Amino acid sequence: MKLLVTGGAGFIGTNFIRYWLQHNSDDAIVNFDRLTYAGNLSNLTDIAETHYPKRYRFVHGDILDFALVESILKKECPDVIVNFAAESHNSRAILHPRRFFETNVMGTQVLLDASRKYGVQRFHHISTCEVYGELPLDSPDRFSETAPYRPQTPYNASKAAADHLVNAYFHSFGMPITISNCANNYGPYQHPEKLIPLFATNAIQNIPLTLYRSSHNRREWLHVEDHCRAIAAVLEYGKIGETYNVGSGVEKSIEEISDFILDILDKPQHLKTYVPDRPGHDCRYLLDSSKIARDVGWKPIIAFEDGMRETIRWYVENWKWWQEIQQKVDSEMVQEDKWER
Ligand code: NAD
Repeated sequence: MKLLVTGGAGFIGTNFIRYWLQHNSDDAIVNFDRLTYAGNLSNLTDIAETHYPKRYRFVHGDILDFALVESILKKECPDVIVNFAAESHNSRAILHPRRFFETNVMGTQVLLDASRKYGVQRFHHISTCEVYGELPLDSPDRFSETAPYRPQTPYNASKAAADHLVNAYFHSFGMPITISNCANNYGPYQHPEKLIPLFATNAIQNIPLTLYRSSHNRREWLHVEDHCRAIAAVLEYGKIGETYNVGSGVEKSIEEISDFILDILDKPQHLKTYVPDRPGHDCRYLLDSSKIARDVGWKPIIAFEDGMRETIRWYVENWKWWQEIQQKVDSEMVQEDKWER
């Protein structure tokens, strides 16, 4: 089988490519990525050059470019598309929403049209728990797949719109789609602007960990490898036209995450500082993931404490990886107008 993975140079895409090639020895992957600030091709250098040079190929490009997407589908004839490509950082979406709608919505539409034209056998779309909106901190509820969509930030709204689009292509054109809506991921290769790598890399350097005042807000955390297993399970056993929630049931507040990281790294509590909240900072998301357990047979297998220890160790050992990214981000900040529209 051949897979076209979009956004494969980002955090989850990288982990998915590594996972898939390792576990499916007859399969090949084409990684199609625009290499935005969040894409890092060096994540896959060992895959491309040493481990699987014959089964992995990279194509540089934008999912908004229909002619390019079409030419790839024509040439590579992938059986499956897994769409990870997205602008994914909520805080950036508050500052510059437009790019989120271009990539996350219109980019998905381009991929759907091209997949339809070339008869791709499965279009799997990667989405987020955040499309459902927020839960009150004291609510006993969880979001099931039938919960109404109530996105509250530009990023969430763009992901929600893309999900509706993917579902619409199933209902209107009979396209063979599946969608997975996942909880917050953590693990290796995550951009150091995201919460866990940010706190870990700050703590390693004795730089303060900046928490929003609402740091009692909670998130559901899933190790990225469990997410990759879930996607593989949905590709194998998922039913066409269905959406699957993917969560661990493990909720931790931002405060608890910071304490955990400081504890693992044996750093003092006074590294924590507090700033006013970001607009639209959701209180809480918690998924009901019983459908994927029941219908697809997936359950997470990595315990939160083990996954976190292993993740923090990875950032300690791979300081060169994140320092290079941080230097790049610093120089990009100088050209912040790149993000202006
Ligand atoms: P990421 O920001 O680390 O990676 C995104 C990748 O997409 C990058 O490699 C980037 O270069 C690429 N990309 C961006 N715009 C593109 C375009 N126009 N054309 C081609 N490539 C483009 O994101 P991530 O954390 O790996 O998330 C991947 C997917 O999973 C996203 O769709 C995100 O919404 C979803 N998701 C993420 C989480 C999480 O906790 N990280 C949770 C649930 C769902």
